[in-house]
Amino acid sequence: MTDTYARTTGTWRNWAGNVTARPARVASPASVDELAGVLRRASEDGLKVKPVGTGHSFTATAATDGVLIRPDLLTGIRDVDRTAMTVTVEAGTPLKRLNAALAREGLSLTNMGDIMEQTVAGAISTGTHGTGRDSASVAAQILALELVAADGTVLRCSADEHPDVFAAARIGLGALGVVTAVTFAVEPVFLLTAREEPMTFDRVTADFDRLVAENEHFEFYWFPHTGNCNTKRNNRSAGPAAPPGRVSGWIEDELLSNGLFQVACSVGRAVPGAIPSIARISSRALSARTYTDIPYKVFTSPRRVRFVEMEYAVPREAAVDALRELKAMVERSPLRISFPVEVRTAPADDIALSTASGRESAYIAVHLYRGTPHQAYFTAVERIMTGYDGRPHWGKIHTRDSGYLAGAYPRFGEFTAVRDRLDPDRLFANDYLRRVLGD
Ligand SMILES: Cc1cc2nc3c(=O)[nH]c(=O)nc-3n(C[C@H](O)[C@H](O)[C@H](O)COP(=O)(O)OP(=O)(O)OC[C@H]3O[C@@H](n4cnc5c(N)ncnc54)[C@H](O)[C@@H]3O)c2cc1C
Repeated sequence: MTDTYARTTGTWRNWAGNVTARPARVASPASVDELAGVLRRASEDGLKVKPVGTGHSFTATAATDGVLIRPDLLTGIRDVDRTAMTVTVEAGTPLKRLNAALAREGLSLTNMGDIMEQTVAGAISTGTHGTGRDSASVAAQILALELVAADGTVLRCSADEHPDVFAAARIGLGALGVVTAVTFAVEPVFLLTAREEPMTFDRVTADFDRLVAENEHFEFYWFPHTGNCNTKRNNRSAGPAAPPGRVSGWIEDELLSNGLFQVACSVGRAVPGAIPSIARISSRALSARTYTDIPYKVFTSPRRVRFVEMEYAVPREAAVDALRELKAMVERSPLRISFPVEVRTAPADDIALSTASGRESAYIAVHLYRGTPHQAYFTAVERIMTGYDGRPHWGKIHTRDSGYLAGAYPRFGEFTAVRDRLDPDRLFANDYLRRVLGD
């Protein structure tokens, strides 16, 4: 399930259901030429334009009352180059389709996030990331991309061609044009061994630097109201493949992580006082396990329980202090939090508006079950994270504006200069962009 567009009411709704919009028109161009025509007509009619992916952003980044461009017909693999080890893909392709197609070719991306429902363009545009010691976000794995600018010009950019556009457009927030194709660096498919293991909060935070340094991909979840965490370490393996057993995999990934978790969240929403007890039980329900599989099967898993999320990137060295402060805040407050807090890392990268731009980063993500009032919790978390020079994920709930973000990103001005050049009349503007980028 992704976003929805109801023709009868003309209403678009994102995955989490916290953002709705009523676009004046919806278009599904099937080619770059058709897309250029859609942009021209919108401009003639004085309408703004917004390309959407699968609506997995929690912010109103894809919302518009102008022309909503759907990705459905701009999908598929354009080219596989085994000499250069690159794959060029149409920008509307869902990541799950890309992953499956790559696996069939014996290829893989190096790193990815927790799910693979998003489109390629949607995922990169807000800086979607997983966790990695050496490998960074999905956008950081791009070698070139094709963009249709506001005036209909098709622009190819890479480190050699329009490098300033390339530095900005890999995480372009949908502000620079419509991305139509993306060229990724790929590698021969490999195996990862995942080790999932419960650990105490005190131990994970005391050993955090070592756990990050010793593993290619380290992440953990802390269960609020408890001292319990679940850790996950993914490292390359010579094999053989040993996927989770069909029954035990179903119990962990579907029953515990989705089915029973959904029930626990519903009970918690109805009876918040029960949340700490539920957290103590659910934090012990997942047991240690080890399995080995191809990357996308290890990195991603189904997320069927709907939630809202805020995520901040802080300098890596500040992660433990920020997290301890978050834990102390929850313990002091009357808040009852049913969802675990997720912690991941990324190396520094060279993309202007990447949350890891120019600095090694740790991500701290907080979630709440859909329909639970989130303001008090998220406001308190945001206050902590901004105290550590935090940068909010562009696709997850936050209240920062261009004044704050210009200070948080040393290359902010570089991005807005490219935007001024490619979209001087702000064809791609919406309320979210006005807030985070300024006019
Ligand atoms: C269950 C769940 C799990 C998630 N897990 C992670 C995770 O592990 N890591 C992480 O970092 N994030 C995660 N996210 C956030 C998600 O990856 C991002 O919000 C992502 O941007 C969503 O992609 P989408 O295809 O749904 O794009 P949308 O949300 O529809 O759009 C996002 C942005 O991309 C722009 N855009 C879309 N298509 C184009 C195009 N063709 N050209 C230019 N701009 C375009 C839109 O205008 C908008 O600004 C998760 C979200 C959910 C709901």
